[in-house]
Amino acid sequence: MANFEIPSEQWAQVVEKPGGPVVYKKIPVQKPGPDEVLINVKYSGVCHTDLHAMMGDWPLPPKLPLVGGHEGAGVVVAKGELVQDLELGDHAGIKWLNGSCLACSFCMQADEPLCPRALLSGYTVDGSFQQYAIAKAAHVARIPKECDLEAVAPVLCAGITVYKGLKESGARPGQTVAIVGAGGGLGSMAIQYARAMGLRVIAIDGGREKGESCRQLGAAAYVDFTSSSDLVQEVKQATPEGLGPHAVLLLAVAEKPFHQATEYVRSRGTVVCIGLPAGAYLRAPVFDTVIRMINIKGSYVGNRQDTQEALDFFQRGLIKVPYKTVGLSELQNVYQLMKEGKVIGRYVVDTSR
Ligand code: NAD
Ligand code: ZN
Ligand code: ZN
Repeated sequence: MANFEIPSEQWAQVVEKPGGPVVYKKIPVQKPGPDEVLINVKYSGVCHTDLHAMMGDWPLPPKLPLVGGHEGAGVVVAKGELVQDLELGDHAGIKWLNGSCLACSFCMQADEPLCPRALLSGYTVDGSFQQYAIAKAAHVARIPKECDLEAVAPVLCAGITVYKGLKESGARPGQTVAIVGAGGGLGSMAIQYARAMGLRVIAIDGGREKGESCRQLGAAAYVDFTSSSDLVQEVKQATPEGLGPHAVLLLAVAEKPFHQATEYVRSRGTVVCIGLPAGAYLRAPVFDTVIRMINIKGSYVGNRQDTQEALDFFQRGLIKVPYKTVGLSELQNVYQLMKEGKVIGRYVVDTSR
């Protein structure tokens, strides 16, 4: 078993007031509790949720001051006395679900994201935009040693979430899924997971560059929401027989696509809501929803088993999503690009700079 020297202070990005900006500074390293591990975070993906947390635009208030981040890949460097199935030196991941009670009726059925006492990394507890982060041992992702920590980081939220969403959609191999927001972090992952699951993908996002990226990742068709004159018709026409996709994954941070999806989804198809635009509402005509037997549902991250399955797809080389790595000190610039809709794939921060 390896032994690690743990400093008393570390670099972190801290949200000190709602709306930000993040402040790059030194803060103390915490000690893990009896059922927790301390992870030396090497790389962390930057999810749009981290931007929502800084802006404070959701109905759930985040802690303040806050260290964001929930796609943290690193090495276990300390553990509490109750932790038996993780060793120092193991590779592990900080994900959105930092911990849950393991005893409520949701946890008992592996629906731990629904646990009323869930702890959320980078939201209700400090997350992975620091060099040393804490999580409940039961919930950290077990990352196989063969996986590159930089490339695997975005799987820890984006990958798990879209993999779970695709399972929730009920789409079967050979069927068609529309991915809305396909050029972003979740979307790029969704194209790859959908392809690996034998699905045909229609990608929807804005601009030529995102279109090129979606096609490179394996989308059969791309619909540009910024230039399409009739998006609903264009999506339907891109499906066999023009009947619409069997499923829709809504990943965009905008309300309008949540209104359009029920119009182009195939009869008996499923619309899965995953993106969380602030203050947005769903809208669907009751008549059509009934006589076309449309399912509308939400999907929220994934459980521990979904996590390990999503990582397994990655380990088998099926998931290759474009990412750009910058220093942790540059996080605010990443948020700026994200606000402008300019991020293709994922940004990953390197905590050593
Ligand atoms: P991102 O910024 O990387 O990607 C969003 C994409 O949506 C961008 O490419 C943008 O161009 C595109 N877009 C904007 N308007 C659009 C429109 N009208 N039609 C089509 N595409 C449009 O963000 P991300 O990190 O992929 O996160 C997406 C959302 O998912 C966020 O709201 C985030 O909080 C949420 N999220 C939810 C869960 C969950 O468990 N449900 C998990 C992680 C993230
Ligand atoms: Zn996330
Ligand atoms: Zn619980």
